[in-house]
Amino acid sequence: MLRITDILDKAQIYLPPDELEMIEKAYIYSATVHQGQVRLSGEPYLTHPMEVAGILTDMKMDSATIISGLLHDTIEDTLTTREQIEQEFGKDVAFLVHGLTKLSRISFASQEERQAENFRKMILAMSSDIRILLVRLADRIHNMRTLQYQTPERRLYIARETLDVYAPLANRLGINWMKMDLEDLAFQYISPNAYKEISTRVAKSNESRNRYTEEVKALIARELEKLSIAGEVEGRAKHLYGIYKKMHEQRINFDEVYDVIAFRIILDSDKEKSCYEALSIVHALWKPIPGRFKDYIAMPKANNYRSLHTAVIGPYGERVEIQIRTREMHEWAEKGIAAHWRYKEGKAFHDSEDNQIKKLREALEIQQDIKNPKEFMSNLKLALFPEEVYVFTPRGDVKSFPKGATPIDFAYSIHTDVGNSCIGARVNRNIVPLRYQLQNGDQVEIITQSGHHPSKDWLKYVVTSRAISKIRNWINAEEKSSSLLLGRDLLDKEFKRNHLKFSSCIKSDEIKKILEEYTLLTVDDLISQVGYGRISARQVANHFIAEGEAREEEKKAEKPKKKSATPSLGISLTGIDDVMVKFAKCCNPIPGDEIAGYISRGRGITVHTQNCVHLKKLDPERIVDVNWDLRQKHAYPVHIKVVCDDRKGVLTEVSSVISSFDVNISFAQVETTDMIATCLFVIDVYDLQQLQSIFSAIRQLKMVRIVERIRKA
Ligand code: MN
Repeated sequence: MLRITDILDKAQIYLPPDELEMIEKAYIYSATVHQGQVRLSGEPYLTHPMEVAGILTDMKMDSATIISGLLHDTIEDTLTTREQIEQEFGKDVAFLVHGLTKLSRISFASQEERQAENFRKMILAMSSDIRILLVRLADRIHNMRTLQYQTPERRLYIARETLDVYAPLANRLGINWMKMDLEDLAFQYISPNAYKEISTRVAKSNESRNRYTEEVKALIARELEKLSIAGEVEGRAKHLYGIYKKMHEQRINFDEVYDVIAFRIILDSDKEKSCYEALSIVHALWKPIPGRFKDYIAMPKANNYRSLHTAVIGPYGERVEIQIRTREMHEWAEKGIAAHWRYKEGKAFHDSEDNQIKKLREALEIQQDIKNPKEFMSNLKLALFPEEVYVFTPRGDVKSFPKGATPIDFAYSIHTDVGNSCIGARVNRNIVPLRYQLQNGDQVEIITQSGHHPSKDWLKYVVTSRAISKIRNWINAEEKSSSLLLGRDLLDKEFKRNHLKFSSCIKSDEIKKILEEYTLLTVDDLISQVGYGRISARQVANHFIAEGEAREEEKKAEKPKKKSATPSLGISLTGIDDVMVKFAKCCNPIPGDEIAGYISRGRGITVHTQNCVHLKKLDPERIVDVNWDLRQKHAYPVHIKVVCDDRKGVLTEVSSVISSFDVNISFAQVETTDMIATCLFVIDVYDLQQLQSIFSAIRQLKMVRIVERIRKA
C-alpha cells in the first residue's frame, strides 16, 4: 500500500516545503473523513485517493492537483462541503474538487457508439480546468486496476466506458502511457479470451524477441555513432490492445503482426534536422518499405504528437517499424499535455486541426512567458467548449446545443410535435421553467400535452435554428388561417357594397391579373394578404369595378342615389336648402362631433369637424353653421388607429371586437416594427357614442396600448 511518505518523497523533488505540508494536511483530512469506509477489495477507502494522488505525483502535477486527488471523493462520499474544502485548502482546490464531484455524478449509459464522442465532449466541457480531467483520468486508472472486485456487470460497463470514453480522452491530451494502460486494462475485461491469447503469445516469444531486439538496437546505435549523432535506441513490445486492434482491423492473425516490437530512436539533440539525418541512416541500413514513411514532424497529429515513422526490411527480411524523435518530442508523446509545464517556452506546440488541442494550445501559449509552473497551472482555467453545452436525454444519449439553449430547443431537437406540444420540462428530475438555460450534464425530460401550441414568446428563449424555424412555421400557419377568415370577410363586404359577389369573381381572368400584379400564386394568398392588411379589399374590388359593365352598373346605381341622398346625409343646414353635402376626407366627422360647413365653389358644402386643421386654413368668410340631423340613421366612415404588442392574430382580435358592434370594417391594415403592431381601420359608425364604446371595448384587450381616431394632417 502506498504511504504518504512515498508521495512526499516523490513530490519534494519538484515542490517547495510549504506545499508538501499542504499535501500532508490533505492526507490527514482525507483519512479523517473517509475513516471507516472500505473499498470492495476490503482495503480502507483511503487507499484509493492515495493511489490517485500517487499517479498525479508521478506525472509531476502541481500541489493543488495532488491535493484534489486526495480529496476527490470527499464531497461525494462524505459529509464534507465545498465551503469546508475552500476554508482548509483554498479556492483553487475547492474549485477542482467541486468539478470532480460533478464529473463523478455523470455516467455514460448509451450503447450507441456515435454517442461516445458527444460524451467525451461533455466531459471536456465540464472539465473547465484541465487539471480536473487529469485527476479524473488518474482516478479511472486506479479504478481499472482494482476492477476485479466489482460485479461482472459493473466490470463490463466500466471497462466499456473506459475504452470508449476515457482512453480516447487520454489520447486526445497526448498522454500515451495513460491511453495504453487504460486500453490494456479494459481489453482484459471486454475480450478476456483474446487478451489471454495475445498476452501468452507475447510472453512466449519473449526470450527470442529480446535477443532480436538487442541485435537491431546495436546495429542502429553503431550507425548513429559513426556519424556522431547522440541518442538512444529503444525496442519494446507494443501494448496488447494495439496488437489486437491491428489483428482485428487488418483481419490477420498474431504471427502476421510483424511489428509487435516497435523500435524508437530518441535523439539528444533538440533539432528537427537530426531526426531526418537519423532517418537517412536507417534507410541506408535497410531497404524502406514504400508508402510507409510518415512525417509527423512536418505535419503533427491532432494531439500534437510529433515523430518520423518508417518501416524497413530488417536483417532477417522481416518488417521493422521505427519511430524517430527528439527527447522533447518523446516527452510530449508519452506525457502529452501533462508534460507541458516543464516546457515553459511553449515551443512544443504546432498547428493542428483538432479544435480542443488548438484551444488548449492557445490558452497555453498565452501562458508561455510565465516561468513558474505553479503560476502557470493556476492560470490554466480553460473553457474547452465555451459555446456548447451537452445534456442527456432520458435514455442516456448525449445531445449538444449552443450555449443558452432551453428545454424548448431540446424538445424541438427530438421531434417537431414534441416541441409544438411542450408545456414544461424536468431537469435532473426537477420541474424548470421553459426559459431555463441548459447546463452541462443536465438530464432533460420534456413534458408535453396534446393540443398545446407554441407561443410567439418562445422565440425569445430559443437559440437553435431548428426551434426558431419550427416555431415560426407554426405561427405563420396559424396566422394564415385566421387572416384567411378575416380577408374573406373584408372582401365579401367590399364586393357586396359594390353590388358584386366576391365568390363569383374568383374564377375570372381579372383575378389572375391581380395575382400577377401582386406576384401571388393562389386566390388564398390574395385573401390572406387582405387579411394581413397588406392589400386592401377596396384595391381588389376596384379591379372589378373598373371592368366595363360592372363600372357602368355601378355608375347608374350610384347617380340617382347620390342626388336623392345629398340633402339628407344627416345634416341640416340653417337657411340653405338643396345643396350638395359631402364630408371632408381629412377629418371624417361623425354625429356627436362639433361640425362646420365650408362652401366650396361648385361642389356644394363640405362638412368638417370644428377643430379640423384644414378648416382653419380655409377662408372664414365661406364657413357656415351646420347641424346634425339625427332623424335618419346613417353610418359614417371613421379612421382609427390601434397600437398594440405584436402578437399573433392581433388584427383578427381587434377586428372581431369591432365586428361585435355590428359595425362594418371597410379597410384594415397592420404594420409591425420592433414588436409593436399598428393597425389601421376604416369603420362605419353611427355616431361618436358608438365609436367611444367600441374604443373602450378595444382597450379591454390586453395587448392594446393606444386606441385613437386619426385625422389626416
Ligand atoms: Mn475515485
